[in-house]
Amino acid sequence: MKIFSDYSLNEISNILADFPRFRAKQVFDAILQGKDYADTTLPKSMIEKLSMDYILKPVSILKVLISKDGTKKYLLKLHDDNIIECVYLKQDYGNTICMSTQVGCRMGCKFCASTSNGLVRNLSSGEMLSTIAVVNADNGKCNDRNFTNIVLMGSGEPFDNYDNVVRWLDLITDEMSFNVSERNISLSTCGLVDKIYEFSKLNYNITLCVSLHATTDEVRRTIMPIANRYTIDEIVKALKAYVRENSRRVVFEYCLIKDVNDTDDDIHRLRDISRDLFCHVNVICLNPNGGALRATTRKQALDFVSRLNKVGVSATLRRSQGSDIEGACGMLRAKTLKENK
Ligand code: SAH
Repeated sequence: MKIFSDYSLNEISNILADFPRFRAKQVFDAILQGKDYADTTLPKSMIEKLSMDYILKPVSILKVLISKDGTKKYLLKLHDDNIIECVYLKQDYGNTICMSTQVGCRMGCKFCASTSNGLVRNLSSGEMLSTIAVVNADNGKCNDRNFTNIVLMGSGEPFDNYDNVVRWLDLITDEMSFNVSERNISLSTCGLVDKIYEFSKLNYNITLCVSLHATTDEVRRTIMPIANRYTIDEIVKALKAYVRENSRRVVFEYCLIKDVNDTDDDIHRLRDISRDLFCHVNVICLNPNGGALRATTRKQALDFVSRLNKVGVSATLRRSQGSDIEGACGMLRAKTLKENK
């Protein structure tokens, strides 16, 4: 089976060449509104024919958890019964959708629940587009855009699914589609240096974030296996190339882990790492996922940030939303998989 949302409006027009022209737009609108065949006004005979080859709605809502702060966590079912997560965050400056790029992940970061069962498969560009469509429709009128920002910070490593993510970027920013401004999209990578260089050349105006989480390669290797492939120096060099090409400020994500990466020396090394780079450091408190790693307290985290600011590093502590609903990466999916076993 093929998935309609993997195709652009032009491509759908070609697929539907035997039908009246307006049918392609009708199918395309149905995709954007998160509809299945039965919710459309397409003729029955056409639905019968199309549904033999094409899935219209590859993503559906299995469960929604709503946090005290209004954050909504979605457990979504794919057409092949795989499960992914998506989070809808209500914010003063516009709502944000945090979405997954893979089913599972193979990067193996110690603190992250998404990776505990490894990688199952990549999401296609259409599955990612339909994720947005389905969550959008659940948060207002399906033909309005009910979000401003998208962050690729759910399960999976976007640059490990490079081609589909780049194709999705074209689909989601298309003015015939959701017309999301590139400036309102953030992509977070654990630091696949080769892909950072490749992506730099495409000149998308998105915010590139790198999960740093340590200030020495030694410590980074103990929590992030990718550090065995690329050093922090190599990451910084690649980010400088990104800033040169795109004039966009890059972001380091730095998840504070008690007695691992929260010392005075870390503050000074973070200053050195960010010295000649147009960047911001987003400090996050670890959301413990049952492993041996412990969180730094919020008070210590605030202190860490203010000391970073004092030595000249642009840094803020990221507000943690939805922690009462397994808000961090992959936690709800991991819990559901365990319960289903
Ligand atoms: N693979 C990408 C995107 C994944 S997650 C990446 O590594 O950047 C988005 C962010 O959440 C990453 O910075 C990730 O390191 C962080 N994260 C994952 N699990 C976490 C946890 N338990 N507590 C705090 N942050 C976590």
